[in-house]
Amino acid sequence: MVKIPAKMNTHCRKCGKHTSMTVRHEKGGRRGSGLVKGTRRANRHKKGSGNKGKYSKKAISQSKMASKTSQKVDLRLTCDVCKSTWVRTYPRSRSVEIVKTG
Ligand SMILES: [Zn+2]
Repeated sequence: MVKIPAKMNTHCRKCGKHTSMTVRHEKGGRRGSGLVKGTRRANRHKKGSGNKGKYSKKAISQSKMASKTSQKVDLRLTCDVCKSTWVRTYPRSRSVEIVKTG
């Protein structure tokens, strides 16, 4: 369990200085667009004939893939001065709690 303060002072790219930021936990599925190159290639190979390369092989079982029990955390920071937002990646942790201070 990692506790992250709901407000933190950090650098704002737009303001060009340290400002107070509101922290929000960005949950799942926001990383990338989903239709990455590998997905598009797999979709193309699914139809038609011929050797489908690595896509004709059996998938690796889930038990073999689940070696990590933690996930990277995405934090969405909102500047209290100019209201611009961006995502900051936090190191791996099992669970995250945003703690309100004051
Ligand atoms: Zn700002």
